[in-house]
Amino acid sequence: MSLSPAVDAYVALGSNLGDSRATLEAAVSALDALPECRLAGVSRTYRTPPWGRLDQPDFLNAVVRLRTTLRPLALLDALMAIERRFGRTRNGERWGPRTLDLDLLHMDGEVLADARLTLPHPRVAERAFVLCPLADLAPELELPGQGRVSDLLRRIDAGGCVPVD
Ligand code: ADP
Ligand code: MG
Repeated sequence: MSLSPAVDAYVALGSNLGDSRATLEAAVSALDALPECRLAGVSRTYRTPPWGRLDQPDFLNAVVRLRTTLRPLALLDALMAIERRFGRTRNGERWGPRTLDLDLLHMDGEVLADARLTLPHPRVAERAFVLCPLADLAPELELPGQGRVSDLLRRIDAGGCVPVD
């Protein structure tokens, strides 16, 4: 039994290798099946242009809300275990193509600068592929140090992010 109170956590999903649509669907189920986690919301899925490195296929991106009593690092470990289960390999290269990327965007009440985990995720404000699906679920959410999701979305060009469901 956990003694921590349940909080909302927001997890970004991305994939641009293999059957990305099936991967995202299965990953959402895997998140719901985690211990001490319950799925509490799913965004639309977006087709988005690659970011960081342009010579790779488009991504599919989505965001889920999890109601969880896990502590932040325990949740990060669980997310990385799911990435590995879906065939993610890390070859040291950042921003390359991947079967599944799971990023922890925000957990209510948590501001963290750990070597393994920064919360809120430091690059939310500049990423349309994160802000579009996050705004489906939580437009009023205030990200400590960055601002309100709907305001952040207004400040960037999200034209390349197209809902596909
Ligand atoms: P990216 O998602 O930026 O393309 P990776 O998925 O390879 O890169 O993650 C690189 C590292 O970022 C992970 O090993 C993880 O420890 C770290 N990290 C720091 N903060 C976070 C966060 N909020 N969510 C997910 N990973 C994070
Ligand atoms: Mg990641």
